[in-house]
Amino acid sequence: MIVMKFGGTSVEDAGALNNVIEIVSRQRERQPLVVLSAIAGATNTLLDAAQLAVEGKLEAAHASLHALLERHVVALENVIEERSTIQELILELRRRFDELKNLCQGIAILGELTNRSLDAIASVGERLSSLILARAMQERGLPVDLVDARTFIITDDHFASAAPLFDRIDEKSKAILSPRIRTGKLVVTQGFIGSTESGVTTTLGRGGSDYTAAIVGAALDAEEIQIWTDVDGVLTADPRIGPSARKLKVISFREASELAYFGAKVLHPSTILPAVKKEIPVIVLNSKRPGLSGTRIVAAPPKSNAAVKSIASKKEITVINIQSGRMLMAYGFLESIFSVFSKHKTPVDLVSTSEVAVSVTIDATNRLDQIVRELEKFADVNVFGQKAILCIVGEQMHSTVGIADRIFRALGEINCMMISQGASEINMSLVIEEAQIHEAVRRLHREFFEPVPELDIFEPVAAV
Ligand code: ADP
Ligand code: ASP
Ligand code: MG
Repeated sequence: MIVMKFGGTSVEDAGALNNVIEIVSRQRERQPLVVLSAIAGATNTLLDAAQLAVEGKLEAAHASLHALLERHVVALENVIEERSTIQELILELRRRFDELKNLCQGIAILGELTNRSLDAIASVGERLSSLILARAMQERGLPVDLVDARTFIITDDHFASAAPLFDRIDEKSKAILSPRIRTGKLVVTQGFIGSTESGVTTTLGRGGSDYTAAIVGAALDAEEIQIWTDVDGVLTADPRIGPSARKLKVISFREASELAYFGAKVLHPSTILPAVKKEIPVIVLNSKRPGLSGTRIVAAPPKSNAAVKSIASKKEITVINIQSGRMLMAYGFLESIFSVFSKHKTPVDLVSTSEVAVSVTIDATNRLDQIVRELEKFADVNVFGQKAILCIVGEQMHSTVGIADRIFRALGEINCMMISQGASEINMSLVIEEAQIHEAVRRLHREFFEPVPELDIFEPVAAV
């Protein structure tokens, strides 16, 4: 069996939904399990509505929910023909939006918005897109079975970024999904959402549908996990920053992990791990151009001479400089620093040390004040906001002489406040001013990929 995950733009309207049906139908004999995102922008709208509600702006919340309902209605009216099915679905949608309005009302009255409520609200996006697609597929005579992901994606109760309980998911997926797939059903389900053991709705964090695809793929020993999105594959840079970005035909799991972790939104950072465990290839494909071959992400791609494969970047980074002349050499100093971050559940992305200072970067700043206060008990602390991480990735980088030199020459006067060569030796990460990040990506892209260095790995992005 294979897993086919379709992102927000791949299900955004009737045309996109029709594409999905065609793509899935063409691979029917491979026993696909279809994982869907909410329609593009739906999750943002739902979360914004909740935020408006807690600020007491109920009318604005209702208005944006109403606009979202309309988008769904237009999509379903154009993808489904049968009048009675349309009417039935519209009624169902209205019911769900009434529930959403009630939830928002409750939030406004209480003046409190918890992650648990946010998950309940955000989950509606995926539940609606999957409902519409399943009905459209049914109408075309396909043997669809819509299965609620909350019956098999069991997570902890860390709402808004819940951790999957892999053993439970394995059990449940085998019990619930396998028999259906075996008997020729086309299972359609939601990405992103799950539930606790006791049945409370959770989400895996923003962009989490990719993760769902990988988790279920691993649980069911899929032969392939396909991530259908709005670009031709994994590219040498985000095409929104570097429009001449090239497509990579193949990259390694390790390279993809680094890229995803350092900002290449095309894959959720956790996607690769479940695939690695079972060595399941992940293929990134363009749902608007299904004939193209996409990017294959595999354990051991053929060796290539290209030292640098891609450039990722991540904005909204905060650098924390921790200095303590007295204690830096002392035993246990680093441990005391990291225990502060771990106590406040704040992941550290990059670390660099000198004899008198330790610098770390974080991207979640909701606990920043508490962290700084605690660090200040034993060190001088300086915080620098509005930074960005620039990450250059390639398996062969460590064995190629002169890469660092080329990077710094290309960056020119762009100042770099932290440098870190990942322990995996397949990346180099730099911290620079956020305002300069796009220019920095473009300069490095010109240095390494323009003109395209090696045609067996890179492909120009085909014109639309
Ligand atoms: P989906 O809704 O299908 O999950 P996303 O918006 O989450 O799609 O991810 C696709 C986007 O990722 C692309 O439109 C592109 O702007 C961005 N992106 C960032 N870095 C890269 C990269 N290296 N290769 C391809 N896309 C990238
Ligand atoms: N709909 C969710 C989001 O926008 C999950 C996803 O699209 O992967 O974050
Ligand atoms: Mg995504």
